[in-house]
Amino acid sequence: MEIPSHKIIYKKKLKKKPNLRDYDDAVKNFRWKDIKKEIEFFKGGRLNLAHNAIDRHADGWRKNKVALYWEGADGEEEKYTFQDIKNLSNKFANVLKKMGVRKGDRVFIFLPRIPELYICFLGIVKTGAIAGTMFSAFGPQGIKDRMENSGARFLITNSELKHRVYQIEKELPGLEKIILIGDKNFHYNEVCYEKEMDRASRDFRVKRMNPEDHAFMLYTSGTTGKPKGVMHAHYSIIQEHITAKWVLDLHDDDVYWCTADPGWVTGVAYEILGSWSCGVSQVIYEGRFDPERWYSLIEKYEVSIWYTAPTAIRMLMKAGDRLPKKYDLSTLRHLCSVGEPLNPEPIRWSLKVLGLPFHDNWWQTEGGGILIANYPCMPIKPGSMGKPFPGIEAAIIDKDGKKLPPGTEGDLALKSGWPSMMREIWKNPKKYHSYFRKGWYVSGDRAFMDKDGYFWFIGRADDVIKTSGERVGPFEVESALVEHPAIVEAAVIGKPDPMRGEIIKAFVVLRERHRPTDKLMKDIQRFVKTRLAGHAYPREIEFRKSLPKTRSGKIMRRLLKAQELGLPLGDTSTLEEY
Ligand code: ATP
Ligand code: MG
Repeated sequence: MEIPSHKIIYKKKLKKKPNLRDYDDAVKNFRWKDIKKEIEFFKGGRLNLAHNAIDRHADGWRKNKVALYWEGADGEEEKYTFQDIKNLSNKFANVLKKMGVRKGDRVFIFLPRIPELYICFLGIVKTGAIAGTMFSAFGPQGIKDRMENSGARFLITNSELKHRVYQIEKELPGLEKIILIGDKNFHYNEVCYEKEMDRASRDFRVKRMNPEDHAFMLYTSGTTGKPKGVMHAHYSIIQEHITAKWVLDLHDDDVYWCTADPGWVTGVAYEILGSWSCGVSQVIYEGRFDPERWYSLIEKYEVSIWYTAPTAIRMLMKAGDRLPKKYDLSTLRHLCSVGEPLNPEPIRWSLKVLGLPFHDNWWQTEGGGILIANYPCMPIKPGSMGKPFPGIEAAIIDKDGKKLPPGTEGDLALKSGWPSMMREIWKNPKKYHSYFRKGWYVSGDRAFMDKDGYFWFIGRADDVIKTSGERVGPFEVESALVEHPAIVEAAVIGKPDPMRGEIIKAFVVLRERHRPTDKLMKDIQRFVKTRLAGHAYPREIEFRKSLPKTRSGKIMRRLLKAQELGLPLGDTSTLEEY
């Protein structure tokens, strides 16, 4: 595997002194014990992450600070202070208590990004139950799979989404009650959210938990197969807090906007837990992706820190460079990206158009918090995920668990035992154990580390292509493809070939005003050949209007491959309509 050609290093002019001043220094002196001091424990070492996210601020000087600026899809606006969120989540905890919720029960949320989603999540965790989230675009099958596997007793949904639940409710014997928001008609097993909240007291004694107790569970994105139920402990707040502080660089006067949905891990760890634990004011927008709306939100709320995903950035690029000029985006000071490999092209674009680079970071549902990142204080090498978070040992290992030297492709692995690491895979110990090799947690991603200690993503283990005896990472080919002026998005797969083992096949989405022609195809092939080794160009190119993605925005290469080979499509519950 070759080291990518783009070795440019971006040094940055920072608008503010970052929370993490010196990466090497932090690595050298890092002890989780010191970080624990930033978190509030109860007597006897007990802990509750909801208390840390909200109540400790509501009980202190941030009491009247805005925790949440909410904007609905139709432009409705609401504002909540830390005190408001504390009171409301206490009330909801009382509602659940009255319904007989017990420690360890699974309580699931199936809601759009409305304030109740956040309030309910915190309320559930305050009772000692385990909160689970489901993305509001799921169809009946996706809901059923998660509810069935988790054995949830209670489900919170609203009038808009309830019909999808009704289609599968009878197949869920474990589901006792549905808490319904914004409705007037109730079935025998349904509870009116508003009525119960009105009656409930705002005083609640938050359950003092063992830090190792489960607090929330999340199903993975399902990019490579059936989603797994990943369990996270209260102790994860330590890592969510410190990564939000050092990677997202949240300061008290920031306005922070994370565009993820809490149906996925980013929306839980950095839209409820880590971000609020840092006491920041955040914007939550209920609506879908829309370039104009997004830029206008940044302007209106004077967003300074923005955490989003490569797919969204590429779509903003597609919307053109003139659009952002119509808005005042000068409040932005730090940009981060996660969820998929971030090609160098979007970083160059944001530097040009927004005057700031996106900082890529890498982690997974199973990791519970950021694990490898680019930090404000560290130069960026575009295309690299950055360096391990202080206190995290990351390495590239071989199949025997031995560390590989810089520049060598291998399995990206982490030394087990960081605070936000998953505690189990729900009802699947075999799957859980399959992640580990000689004390390492093996991520399932292939990568290499360069001599400066930066990590570079190559592809998911199953996606790496073997062509003419060489291994080719899909990410580097895709990155070369999206540098072509006609291409906005690309996915490549290995297609079986009798001569070469596999050939590289690319699926590309063109920018507006470009037409798919043979000439363009040849030009694209030539373009990639000038950037990568001769064998690493796509022999086949297919033009598409869009690429299949998970609802969390990840390109589903396995689906493209299955379609190409006429194989069964596997689990498609997280597939977005495309
Ligand atoms: P499943 O495990 O069900 O197949 P998934 O792996 O897509 O789904 P997530 O846990 O949401 O579910 O995603 C984590 C994965 O996303 C990582 O293992 C990696 O493949 C990819 N990823 C996340 N961030 C980055 C990044 N910055 N660069 C490259 N890849 C990333
Ligand atoms: Mg995964």
